[in-house]
Amino acid sequence: MIGAGVIGLSVAHELATAGHQVTVVADTDTAETVSSVAAAVWFPFRSEQGDLADHLLERSLTRFNELSIIPGAAIEQRTGTVVERVADQDRSWARFLPDALEAMRGQLPPGALSGVRATVPVIMIPAYLPWLRQEVAGKGVIFKQGKVNDLSELGTSADAAVIATGIRGGELLGGDSLIYPIRGQIVRLANPGLTEWITDEDNPDGLTYVFPRREDIIVGGTAIEDSWDTALDLETERAILERASKLVPALAEQPVLGRAAGLRPARQKIRLEYVSGYDLPAITAYGHGGAGVSLSWGTAERVLSLIQELN
Ligand SMILES: Cc1cc2nc3c(=O)[nH]c(=O)nc-3n(C[C@H](O)[C@H](O)[C@H](O)COP(=O)(O)OP(=O)(O)OC[C@H]3O[C@@H](n4cnc5c(N)ncnc54)[C@H](O)[C@@H]3O)c2cc1C
Repeated sequence: MIGAGVIGLSVAHELATAGHQVTVVADTDTAETVSSVAAAVWFPFRSEQGDLADHLLERSLTRFNELSIIPGAAIEQRTGTVVERVADQDRSWARFLPDALEAMRGQLPPGALSGVRATVPVIMIPAYLPWLRQEVAGKGVIFKQGKVNDLSELGTSADAAVIATGIRGGELLGGDSLIYPIRGQIVRLANPGLTEWITDEDNPDGLTYVFPRREDIIVGGTAIEDSWDTALDLETERAILERASKLVPALAEQPVLGRAAGLRPARQKIRLEYVSGYDLPAITAYGHGGAGVSLSWGTAERVLSLIQELN
């Protein structure tokens, strides 16, 4: 298993639970991965659309709902609003949510056409990822720190290699011209007690979302395609805070607790397949765009099926 972001850890969990011996190799501490930057709200933002993706999303929702009753997993069910400013917005995700309802006019910002109100799992990622890693270690999975430069380094002692390497997905497979970054920048503000989230993707001033966690609030954002820039831009941050405070006035004057930028590993189609031609059978699991957390458990289940099909 290569990669210890949310996809690698979820896959390792699934394989170990099914009785496989798993070793995870990763060159970045989990807390430094793109996964640790995620908001992380269950929602299909800038990710594959279609039947397979819907299945992964639905399965992940079911798994997060189950995990939300385990206190250590740090997942909470939170209600919020998806603001719509263009006609015929994709609402396919809403059919998985039993309480999804048309938003009332008073629940929407000026200029919005419509919106959906729904309750979704919000994954408190700073607590969830360490919890998941501990669960995985408890199942006997071995973690190794290091970079894999070539799949041949793994030898032939394993039955398969799973490549869950996010934006670097193609590197071990001779390149992948279909993967590209979507740069995201967020600010972390102190939380004065908010629980409701809101996302306003087509805000004329720019993508805007507010996702309260427990002590902090993730405020975003940007979605810049093909930008590899991970440096923080303070002018961008100022603009994010300005438009977010217009949407949620309670944010004004809240102290900044932190800031981050990350590259969403985007691909028209998530690469979730068996790749031949290597010493070990290789299974790919990357390209989840802005929804890697939201698709993680469905992806892990699919990788387990692909591994089972090998035998
Ligand atoms: C601002 C922002 C907000 C987001 N919000 C959300 C959200 O609300 N909900 C949601 O579902 N998603 C969200 N996302 C998207 C989500 O973060 C990603 O889709 C997800 O983290 C991808 O996970 P991953 O495990 O594939 O990759 P990563 O987290 O990048 O992990 C990749 C792993 O591979 C390892 N690796 C790579 N190459 C090698 C190698 N050669 N050798 C060894 N190790 C290697 C790395 O060390 C790392 O461990 C957001 C992203 C951003 C940037």
